[in-house]
Amino acid sequence: MAKELVSGRLTLSVFGSGDARRLRVAAPTAEDLQAFDGTAAEAAGGAVLEGPLSPANAAAVRANVPWLQPKPVGLHTSAGVGDRLGRATPGHVRAFQTYGGGMVPVFAQQSAREMDRLERTPQEVLDSATFGAVQGGWDRQVGADADHLKSTHDIDRCLAAGFTSFTLDAGDTVNAVPAGYAGELAGVPWGALEDDEASLLRRYSGDVQDPVLRVSEPELRRAAHKYGDAVAYTVAMYRHLMANASYEVEVEIAVDETDDPTTIAEHVYLATELKRLGVNWNGFAPRYVGGFEKGVEYIGPTDVFAASLREHFAVASALGPYKISLHSGSDKFSIYGLAAEATGGMLHLKTSGTSYLEAVQLAAEFSPSLFREIYDVSREAYAGSRASYTVSADLDRTPLSRDVADADLVDLVMRSDSRQILHVGYGAVLMLQDENGTRRLDDELHALLDAEPERYAQALETYIGRHLEPMRPVV
Ligand SMILES: [Zn+2]
Repeated sequence: MAKELVSGRLTLSVFGSGDARRLRVAAPTAEDLQAFDGTAAEAAGGAVLEGPLSPANAAAVRANVPWLQPKPVGLHTSAGVGDRLGRATPGHVRAFQTYGGGMVPVFAQQSAREMDRLERTPQEVLDSATFGAVQGGWDRQVGADADHLKSTHDIDRCLAAGFTSFTLDAGDTVNAVPAGYAGELAGVPWGALEDDEASLLRRYSGDVQDPVLRVSEPELRRAAHKYGDAVAYTVAMYRHLMANASYEVEVEIAVDETDDPTTIAEHVYLATELKRLGVNWNGFAPRYVGGFEKGVEYIGPTDVFAASLREHFAVASALGPYKISLHSGSDKFSIYGLAAEATGGMLHLKTSGTSYLEAVQLAAEFSPSLFREIYDVSREAYAGSRASYTVSADLDRTPLSRDVADADLVDLVMRSDSRQILHVGYGAVLMLQDENGTRRLDDELHALLDAEPERYAQALETYIGRHLEPMRPVV
Protein backbone atom coordinates (compact mmCIF):
# COMPACT_ATOMS: atom_id res chain seq x y z
CA MET A 1 0.00 0.00 0.00
CA ALA A 2 1.52 3.29 -1.14
CA LYS A 3 2.16 6.02 1.44
CA GLU A 4 -0.11 9.04 1.19
CA LEU A 5 0.65 12.72 1.68
CA VAL A 6 -2.16 15.12 2.51
CA SER A 7 -1.75 18.77 1.54
CA GLY A 8 -4.78 21.05 1.71
CA ARG A 9 -7.52 19.44 -0.36
CA LEU A 10 -5.17 16.98 -2.05
CA THR A 11 -4.11 13.45 -1.15
CA LEU A 12 -1.04 12.34 -3.13
CA SER A 13 0.76 9.06 -3.61
CA VAL A 14 3.17 7.41 -6.00
CA PHE A 15 2.36 3.78 -6.74
CA GLY A 16 3.83 1.02 -8.87
CA SER A 17 7.46 0.21 -9.40
CA GLY A 18 10.36 1.52 -11.46
CA ASP A 19 9.53 3.26 -14.72
CA ALA A 20 5.94 2.07 -14.38
CA ARG A 21 5.39 4.29 -11.34
CA ARG A 22 2.46 6.72 -11.51
CA LEU A 23 1.29 9.69 -9.50
CA ARG A 24 -2.17 9.52 -7.96
CA VAL A 25 -3.91 12.63 -6.65
CA ALA A 26 -7.30 12.55 -4.98
CA ALA A 27 -9.39 15.64 -4.22
CA PRO A 28 -12.98 16.62 -3.39
CA THR A 29 -13.62 17.96 -6.92
CA ALA A 30 -12.13 17.60 -10.40
CA GLU A 31 -11.28 21.34 -10.39
CA ASP A 32 -8.79 20.72 -7.56
CA LEU A 33 -6.78 18.54 -9.95
CA GLN A 34 -6.37 21.01 -12.78
CA ALA A 35 -2.70 21.67 -12.10
CA PHE A 36 -1.89 18.00 -12.72
CA ASP A 37 -1.39 16.18 -15.97
CA GLY A 38 -3.19 12.84 -16.29
CA THR A 39 -6.57 11.20 -16.45
CA ALA A 40 -9.13 12.25 -13.87
CA ALA A 41 -12.12 10.16 -12.92
CA GLU A 42 -15.02 10.42 -10.53
CA ALA A 43 -14.46 8.50 -7.34
CA ALA A 44 -16.23 7.96 -4.08
CA GLY A 45 -16.16 11.30 -2.31
CA GLY A 46 -14.62 13.28 -5.18
CA ALA A 47 -12.18 12.87 -8.06
CA VAL A 48 -8.97 10.93 -8.61
CA LEU A 49 -6.27 11.61 -11.16
CA GLU A 50 -3.54 9.26 -12.27
CA GLY A 51 -0.65 10.62 -14.28
CA PRO A 52 2.96 10.14 -15.31
CA LEU A 53 6.04 11.09 -13.26
CA SER A 54 6.59 13.94 -15.69
CA PRO A 55 8.36 17.27 -15.17
CA ALA A 56 4.97 19.00 -15.29
CA ASN A 57 3.62 16.80 -12.53
CA ALA A 58 6.77 17.25 -10.43
CA ALA A 59 6.32 21.02 -10.69
CA ALA A 60 2.64 20.66 -9.80
CA VAL A 61 3.54 18.56 -6.75
CA ARG A 62 6.02 21.19 -5.55
CA ALA A 63 3.50 23.98 -6.15
CA ASN A 64 0.77 22.20 -4.20
CA VAL A 65 2.78 20.56 -1.41
CA PRO A 66 4.58 23.51 0.19
CA TRP A 67 7.15 21.50 2.16
CA LEU A 68 8.33 19.69 -0.98
CA GLN A 69 9.26 23.01 -2.58
CA PRO A 70 12.99 23.07 -1.70
CA LYS A 71 14.14 25.93 0.47
CA PRO A 72 17.45 27.13 1.88
CA VAL A 73 18.30 24.95 4.87
CA GLY A 74 20.00 27.66 6.93
CA LEU A 75 21.95 26.68 10.02
CA HIS A 76 19.95 23.56 10.93
CA THR A 77 21.80 20.26 11.14
CA SER A 78 21.35 18.69 7.73
CA ALA A 79 22.52 15.92 5.46
CA GLY A 80 22.54 15.46 1.71
CA VAL A 81 22.19 12.02 0.20
CA GLY A 82 22.87 11.70 -3.48
CA ASP A 83 21.01 9.29 -5.69
CA ARG A 84 22.78 8.34 -8.90
CA LEU A 85 20.12 5.80 -9.91
CA GLY A 86 16.99 7.83 -9.26
CA ARG A 87 15.55 5.11 -7.03
CA ALA A 88 16.96 5.89 -3.59
CA THR A 89 14.76 8.66 -2.21
CA PRO A 90 12.04 6.45 -0.64
CA GLY A 91 14.79 4.66 1.32
CA HIS A 92 16.41 7.98 2.20
CA VAL A 93 13.06 9.20 3.51
CA ARG A 94 12.88 6.21 5.82
CA ALA A 95 16.42 6.79 7.07
CA PHE A 96 15.57 10.38 8.01
CA GLN A 97 12.22 9.38 9.51
CA THR A 98 13.75 6.68 11.67
CA TYR A 99 17.19 8.09 12.51
CA GLY A 100 17.29 11.77 11.51
CA GLY A 101 15.70 13.47 14.53
CA GLY A 102 15.03 17.03 13.38
CA MET A 103 17.72 16.97 10.71
CA VAL A 104 16.81 18.62 7.38
CA PRO A 105 17.28 16.25 4.42
CA VAL A 106 18.66 17.19 1.04
CA PHE A 107 17.32 14.39 -1.16
CA ALA A 108 18.13 16.23 -4.39
CA GLN A 109 21.89 16.53 -4.42
CA GLN A 110 24.16 15.84 -7.31
CA SER A 111 27.42 17.38 -8.43
CA ALA A 112 27.78 18.89 -11.88
CA ARG A 113 30.46 16.26 -12.50
CA GLU A 114 28.10 13.38 -11.74
CA MET A 115 25.26 14.85 -13.76
CA ASP A 116 27.55 15.25 -16.75
CA ARG A 117 29.01 11.79 -16.39
CA LEU A 118 25.55 10.22 -16.18
CA GLU A 119 23.89 12.59 -18.66
CA ARG A 120 21.29 13.53 -16.05
CA THR A 121 19.83 17.02 -16.10
CA PRO A 122 19.38 19.08 -12.93
CA GLN A 123 15.64 18.92 -13.57
CA GLU A 124 15.66 15.10 -13.61
CA VAL A 125 17.60 15.05 -10.33
CA LEU A 126 15.17 17.41 -8.64
CA ASP A 127 12.03 15.77 -10.05
CA SER A 128 13.20 12.29 -9.07
CA ALA A 129 13.71 13.49 -5.49
CA THR A 130 10.28 15.16 -5.48
CA PHE A 131 8.47 11.99 -6.56
CA GLY A 132 10.62 9.86 -4.25
CA ALA A 133 9.63 12.09 -1.32
CA VAL A 134 5.95 11.59 -2.17
CA GLN A 135 6.49 7.86 -2.54
CA GLY A 136 8.21 7.68 0.84
CA GLY A 137 5.66 9.93 2.55
CA TRP A 138 8.05 12.71 3.60
CA ASP A 139 6.07 15.44 5.38
CA ARG A 140 8.67 18.05 6.32
CA GLN A 141 11.07 20.60 4.79
CA VAL A 142 13.61 19.63 2.13
CA GLY A 143 16.66 21.31 0.60
CA ALA A 144 18.08 20.82 -2.91
CA ASP A 145 21.83 21.02 -3.44
CA ALA A 146 23.41 21.86 -6.77
CA ASP A 147 26.71 20.36 -5.70
CA HIS A 148 30.26 21.16 -6.75
CA LEU A 149 29.46 23.72 -9.41
CA LYS A 150 32.46 24.95 -11.36
CA SER A 151 30.99 27.26 -13.99
CA THR A 152 28.33 29.93 -14.42
CA HIS A 153 26.67 27.58 -16.90
CA ASP A 154 26.28 25.04 -14.05
CA ILE A 155 24.69 27.78 -11.94
CA ASP A 156 22.27 28.75 -14.71
CA ARG A 157 20.98 25.27 -15.39
CA CYS A 158 20.55 24.47 -11.68
CA LEU A 159 18.72 27.77 -11.10
CA ALA A 160 16.40 26.95 -13.98
CA ALA A 161 15.59 23.62 -12.34
CA GLY A 162 14.80 25.16 -8.94
CA PHE A 163 17.75 24.17 -6.76
CA THR A 164 18.11 26.29 -3.63
CA SER A 165 21.55 25.40 -2.20
CA PHE A 166 24.49 26.19 -4.47
CA THR A 167 27.86 24.64 -3.66
CA LEU A 168 30.53 26.69 -5.38
CA ASP A 169 33.66 24.61 -5.88
CA ALA A 170 36.79 26.75 -5.98
CA GLY A 171 39.07 23.71 -5.92
CA ASP A 172 40.54 24.17 -9.41
CA THR A 173 41.74 27.68 -8.51
CA VAL A 174 43.57 26.72 -5.32
CA ASN A 175 47.33 27.15 -5.82
CA ALA A 176 49.99 24.85 -4.40
CA VAL A 177 52.46 26.50 -2.05
CA PRO A 178 55.94 25.53 -3.29
CA ALA A 179 58.61 24.26 -0.93
CA GLY A 180 60.73 27.19 0.18
CA TYR A 181 57.93 29.68 -0.49
CA ALA A 182 59.31 33.08 0.53
CA GLY A 183 56.12 35.09 0.77
CA GLU A 184 55.94 36.69 -2.67
CA LEU A 185 52.45 37.68 -3.79
CA ALA A 186 53.12 38.28 -7.48
CA GLY A 187 50.31 36.00 -8.69
CA VAL A 188 47.53 37.40 -6.49
CA PRO A 189 44.70 38.86 -8.66
CA TRP A 190 44.59 42.22 -6.89
CA GLY A 191 42.18 43.77 -9.38
CA ALA A 192 39.53 41.09 -8.97
CA LEU A 193 40.06 41.21 -5.21
CA GLU A 194 39.65 45.02 -5.20
CA ASP A 195 42.78 45.07 -3.08
CA ASP A 196 46.55 45.63 -3.01
CA GLU A 197 49.39 44.15 -1.01
CA ALA A 198 49.77 47.03 1.48
CA SER A 199 46.03 47.08 2.23
CA LEU A 200 45.97 43.34 2.71
CA LEU A 201 48.86 43.41 5.18
CA ARG A 202 47.31 46.33 7.05
CA ARG A 203 43.94 44.58 7.45
CA TYR A 204 45.46 41.69 9.38
CA SER A 205 48.02 43.63 11.42
CA GLY A 206 45.69 44.83 14.18
CA ASP A 207 45.34 43.33 17.65
CA VAL A 208 43.11 40.25 17.55
CA GLN A 209 41.77 39.04 20.90
CA ASP A 210 40.80 35.52 19.90
CA PRO A 211 43.97 33.49 19.24
CA VAL A 212 42.15 31.27 16.74
CA LEU A 213 41.53 34.30 14.53
CA ARG A 214 45.12 35.59 14.61
CA VAL A 215 46.98 35.40 11.30
CA SER A 216 50.72 36.09 11.22
CA GLU A 217 52.25 37.79 8.21
CA PRO A 218 53.92 34.62 6.87
CA GLU A 219 50.61 32.77 7.30
CA LEU A 220 48.76 35.57 5.53
CA ARG A 221 51.15 35.53 2.59
CA ARG A 222 50.79 31.78 2.20
CA ALA A 223 47.01 32.07 2.46
CA ALA A 224 46.82 34.81 -0.18
CA HIS A 225 49.12 32.90 -2.50
CA LYS A 226 47.16 29.68 -2.07
CA TYR A 227 43.60 30.98 -1.95
CA GLY A 228 43.68 34.47 -3.57
CA ASP A 229 42.50 33.09 -6.90
CA ALA A 230 39.88 30.99 -5.11
CA VAL A 231 38.45 34.10 -3.44
CA ALA A 232 38.30 35.94 -6.78
CA TYR A 233 36.68 32.95 -8.47
CA THR A 234 34.13 32.46 -5.69
CA VAL A 235 33.17 36.14 -5.72
CA ALA A 236 32.57 36.02 -9.48
CA MET A 237 30.46 32.84 -9.20
CA TYR A 238 28.55 34.28 -6.25
CA ARG A 239 27.76 37.55 -8.00
CA HIS A 240 26.56 35.66 -11.05
CA LEU A 241 24.28 33.53 -8.87
CA MET A 242 22.84 36.49 -7.01
CA ALA A 243 22.29 38.49 -10.20
CA ASN A 244 20.31 35.63 -11.74
CA ALA A 245 18.42 34.05 -8.85
CA SER A 246 14.74 35.00 -8.87
CA TYR A 247 14.02 33.10 -5.63
CA GLU A 248 15.80 32.63 -2.31
CA VAL A 249 19.02 30.62 -2.48
CA GLU A 250 21.93 29.85 -0.16
CA VAL A 251 25.60 29.24 -0.87
CA GLU A 252 28.18 26.74 0.31
CA ILE A 253 31.84 27.23 -0.50
CA ALA A 254 33.96 24.14 -1.10
CA VAL A 255 37.68 23.64 -1.39
CA ASP A 256 37.59 20.07 -0.08
CA GLU A 257 38.79 18.34 -3.23
CA THR A 258 42.31 19.78 -3.07
CA ASP A 259 45.66 18.39 -2.04
CA ASP A 260 46.71 20.25 1.11
CA PRO A 261 44.64 20.76 4.25
CA THR A 262 43.10 24.18 4.80
CA THR A 263 44.86 25.61 7.85
CA ILE A 264 42.93 27.66 10.38
CA ALA A 265 44.77 30.82 9.26
CA GLU A 266 43.80 30.07 5.66
CA HIS A 267 40.18 29.62 6.71
CA VAL A 268 40.33 33.00 8.48
CA TYR A 269 41.77 34.57 5.31
CA LEU A 270 39.12 33.04 3.03
CA ALA A 271 36.24 34.05 5.26
CA THR A 272 37.57 37.56 5.90
CA GLU A 273 38.12 38.28 2.21
CA LEU A 274 34.82 36.78 1.03
CA LYS A 275 32.99 38.84 3.62
CA ARG A 276 34.83 42.01 2.59
CA LEU A 277 33.72 41.40 -0.99
CA GLY A 278 30.08 40.99 -0.02
CA VAL A 279 29.69 37.21 -0.20
CA ASN A 280 27.07 35.80 2.16
CA TRP A 281 27.39 32.07 2.60
CA ASN A 282 25.86 29.35 4.67
CA GLY A 283 28.37 26.50 4.70
CA PHE A 284 32.05 25.89 4.20
CA ALA A 285 33.82 22.68 3.27
CA PRO A 286 37.54 23.05 3.92
CA ARG A 287 40.07 20.40 3.00
CA TYR A 288 40.36 18.73 6.41
CA VAL A 289 43.37 17.20 8.07
CA GLY A 290 43.66 13.46 7.61
CA GLY A 291 42.18 11.38 4.84
CA PHE A 292 38.66 11.92 3.50
CA GLU A 293 38.55 9.32 0.82
CA LYS A 294 35.48 8.05 -0.97
CA GLY A 295 33.66 5.18 0.65
CA VAL A 296 36.00 4.37 3.53
CA GLU A 297 36.55 5.33 7.18
CA TYR A 298 38.28 8.56 8.16
CA ILE A 299 42.02 8.06 7.85
CA GLY A 300 44.07 9.46 10.74
CA PRO A 301 43.77 10.10 14.47
CA THR A 302 40.22 11.22 15.28
CA ASP A 303 41.30 13.41 18.22
CA VAL A 304 43.44 15.51 15.87
CA PHE A 305 40.49 15.80 13.51
CA ALA A 306 38.17 16.84 16.36
CA ALA A 307 40.60 19.52 17.59
CA SER A 308 40.94 20.91 14.09
CA LEU A 309 37.17 20.86 13.56
CA ARG A 310 36.62 22.81 16.79
CA GLU A 311 38.95 25.52 15.48
CA HIS A 312 37.30 25.61 12.06
CA PHE A 313 33.97 25.92 13.81
CA ALA A 314 35.30 28.77 15.99
CA VAL A 315 36.24 30.65 12.82
CA ALA A 316 32.84 29.88 11.25
CA SER A 317 31.08 31.21 14.35
CA ALA A 318 33.17 34.36 14.60
CA LEU A 319 33.16 35.31 10.92
CA GLY A 320 29.77 33.87 9.90
CA PRO A 321 28.00 32.16 11.37
CA TYR A 322 27.94 29.42 8.77
CA LYS A 323 27.89 25.65 8.93
CA ILE A 324 30.81 23.30 8.61
CA SER A 325 30.25 20.86 5.79
CA LEU A 326 31.64 17.33 5.67
CA HIS A 327 31.96 16.06 2.11
CA SER A 328 32.85 12.57 0.96
CA GLY A 329 31.04 11.89 4.19
CA SER A 330 30.03 8.28 3.74
CA ASP A 331 31.35 5.41 5.84
CA LYS A 332 33.16 7.64 8.39
CA PHE A 333 31.43 6.24 11.43
CA SER A 334 34.23 7.21 13.79
CA ILE A 335 33.69 10.96 13.34
CA TYR A 336 29.96 11.80 13.05
CA GLY A 337 29.36 12.03 16.77
CA LEU A 338 32.46 14.08 17.46
CA ALA A 339 31.77 16.35 14.47
CA ALA A 340 28.27 17.09 15.77
CA GLU A 341 29.74 17.83 19.18
CA ALA A 342 32.59 20.02 17.88
CA THR A 343 30.16 22.16 15.86
CA GLY A 344 27.21 22.22 18.22
CA GLY A 345 25.20 20.65 15.40
CA MET A 346 25.96 23.45 12.91
CA LEU A 347 26.95 20.73 10.54
CA HIS A 348 26.09 19.44 7.09
CA LEU A 349 27.01 15.97 5.88
CA LYS A 350 27.21 14.94 2.25
CA THR A 351 27.21 11.43 0.95
CA SER A 352 26.83 10.75 -2.74
CA GLY A 353 28.06 7.35 -3.87
CA THR A 354 26.89 5.33 -0.87
CA SER A 355 23.39 4.76 -2.16
CA TYR A 356 24.80 3.49 -5.45
CA LEU A 357 27.08 1.14 -3.52
CA GLU A 358 24.09 -0.19 -1.60
CA ALA A 359 22.49 -1.04 -4.95
CA VAL A 360 25.70 -2.71 -6.10
CA GLN A 361 25.72 -4.69 -2.88
CA LEU A 362 22.22 -5.97 -3.63
CA ALA A 363 23.56 -7.13 -6.98
CA ALA A 364 26.35 -8.98 -5.15
CA GLU A 365 23.75 -10.70 -2.99
CA PHE A 366 20.99 -11.39 -5.49
CA SER A 367 22.48 -11.26 -8.98
CA PRO A 368 26.07 -12.55 -8.96
CA SER A 369 26.48 -12.41 -12.74
CA LEU A 370 25.38 -8.75 -12.88
CA PHE A 371 27.68 -7.92 -9.99
CA ARG A 372 30.62 -9.61 -11.69
CA GLU A 373 30.09 -7.44 -14.76
CA ILE A 374 29.78 -4.28 -12.68
CA TYR A 375 32.95 -5.19 -10.83
CA ASP A 376 34.90 -6.04 -13.99
CA VAL A 377 33.88 -2.81 -15.75
CA SER A 378 34.75 -0.77 -12.65
CA ARG A 379 38.16 -2.42 -12.40
CA GLU A 380 38.89 -1.84 -16.04
CA ALA A 381 37.86 1.80 -15.86
CA TYR A 382 39.62 2.55 -12.59
CA ALA A 383 42.75 4.14 -14.04
CA GLY A 384 40.56 6.76 -15.72
CA SER A 385 37.74 7.11 -13.22
CA ARG A 386 40.02 7.64 -10.21
CA ALA A 387 41.46 10.83 -11.74
CA SER A 388 38.70 13.12 -10.48
CA TYR A 389 38.31 11.52 -7.04
CA THR A 390 40.22 11.23 -3.80
CA VAL A 391 40.83 7.50 -3.54
CA SER A 392 43.84 5.31 -2.83
CA ALA A 393 42.63 1.88 -3.96
CA ASP A 394 45.22 -0.29 -5.63
CA LEU A 395 44.04 -2.54 -8.45
CA ASP A 396 46.75 -5.06 -7.62
CA ARG A 397 45.23 -5.62 -4.21
CA THR A 398 41.89 -6.67 -5.74
CA PRO A 399 41.11 -10.12 -7.13
CA LEU A 400 39.65 -10.85 -10.54
CA SER A 401 35.96 -11.61 -10.28
CA ARG A 402 36.44 -15.11 -11.71
CA ASP A 403 38.63 -15.96 -8.70
CA VAL A 404 35.90 -15.08 -6.20
CA ALA A 405 33.10 -17.47 -5.23
CA ASP A 406 29.52 -16.17 -5.41
CA ALA A 407 29.20 -16.28 -1.65
CA ASP A 408 32.21 -14.00 -1.27
CA LEU A 409 31.17 -11.29 -3.73
CA VAL A 410 29.66 -9.15 -0.98
CA ASP A 411 33.12 -8.98 0.60
CA LEU A 412 34.29 -7.07 -2.46
CA VAL A 413 31.78 -4.34 -1.67
CA MET A 414 33.08 -4.21 1.91
CA ARG A 415 36.84 -4.27 1.43
CA SER A 416 38.26 -0.81 0.94
CA ASP A 417 40.24 -1.29 -2.28
CA SER A 418 37.44 -2.94 -4.22
CA ARG A 419 34.84 -0.70 -2.55
CA GLN A 420 36.56 2.44 -3.82
CA ILE A 421 36.96 0.95 -7.28
CA LEU A 422 33.22 0.21 -7.35
CA HIS A 423 32.49 3.66 -5.88
CA VAL A 424 34.19 5.67 -8.63
CA GLY A 425 33.32 3.20 -11.39
CA TYR A 426 29.66 4.26 -11.57
CA GLY A 427 30.07 6.31 -14.75
CA ALA A 428 31.71 3.49 -16.69
CA VAL A 429 29.14 1.00 -15.43
CA LEU A 430 25.95 3.01 -15.87
CA MET A 431 26.94 4.54 -19.19
CA LEU A 432 28.30 1.37 -20.78
CA GLN A 433 26.53 0.85 -24.10
CA ASP A 434 26.29 -2.28 -26.14
CA GLU A 435 26.36 -2.15 -29.95
CA ASN A 436 22.71 -1.06 -30.30
CA GLY A 437 23.13 1.77 -27.82
CA THR A 438 21.42 0.11 -24.85
CA ARG A 439 22.81 0.89 -21.41
CA ARG A 440 22.47 -2.71 -20.33
CA LEU A 441 24.14 -2.68 -16.90
CA ASP A 442 22.20 0.46 -15.98
CA ASP A 443 18.99 -1.27 -17.10
CA GLU A 444 19.79 -4.48 -15.26
CA LEU A 445 20.69 -2.70 -12.03
CA HIS A 446 17.44 -0.74 -12.21
CA ALA A 447 15.52 -3.95 -12.93
CA LEU A 448 17.05 -5.57 -9.87
CA LEU A 449 16.01 -2.63 -7.66
CA ASP A 450 12.56 -2.35 -9.22
CA ALA A 451 11.81 -6.05 -8.79
CA GLU A 452 11.85 -5.58 -5.01
CA PRO A 453 11.85 -1.89 -4.07
CA GLU A 454 11.40 -2.79 -0.41
CA ARG A 455 14.81 -4.46 -0.34
CA TYR A 456 16.62 -1.31 -1.51
CA ALA A 457 14.60 0.95 0.77
CA GLN A 458 15.38 -1.25 3.76
CA ALA A 459 19.10 -1.37 2.94
CA LEU A 460 19.24 2.43 2.62
CA GLU A 461 17.23 3.05 5.77
CA THR A 462 19.69 0.97 7.76
CA TYR A 463 22.92 2.14 6.14
CA ILE A 464 22.19 5.86 5.73
CA GLY A 465 20.63 5.71 9.18
CA ARG A 466 23.97 4.66 10.65
CA HIS A 467 25.38 7.96 9.32
CA LEU A 468 22.54 10.11 10.61
CA GLU A 469 21.94 8.73 14.07
CA PRO A 470 25.22 9.89 15.69
CA MET A 471 24.76 13.46 14.43
CA ARG A 472 21.02 13.89 14.89
CA PRO A 473 20.07 17.02 16.80
CA VAL A 474 18.67 16.62 20.28
CA VAL A 475 15.03 17.64 19.94
ZN1 LIG B 1 33.06 17.79 -1.88
